[in-house]
Amino acid sequence: MKCAELLAVLNEYVEGTVDPAICEEFEKHMAGCNPCQVVVDNIRKTITLYKGGQPCELPVEFRQRLHSALRQKWKQTHPQKA
Ligand SMILES: [Zn+2]
Repeated sequence: MKCAELLAVLNEYVEGTVDPAICEEFEKHMAGCNPCQVVVDNIRKTITLYKGGQPCELPVEFRQRLHSALRQKWKQTHPQKA
């Protein structure tokens, strides 16, 4: 899996709807890619904060904001590939 592929499935990963096989690739890539770790860590923290530990649907508006924030973060951490 490449960084761009990781970004492409990130939305699904965040919503917990990602294919388990892809999820494994995702975790493998994360283990060896620091910039992606930073991005995913960031989104996890944001979601944890938002949910306050409660499992619930994220509103569409929130997700859109989150995704654009993510893309920005991703560009910062992957300057050559953005
Ligand atoms: Zn990466």
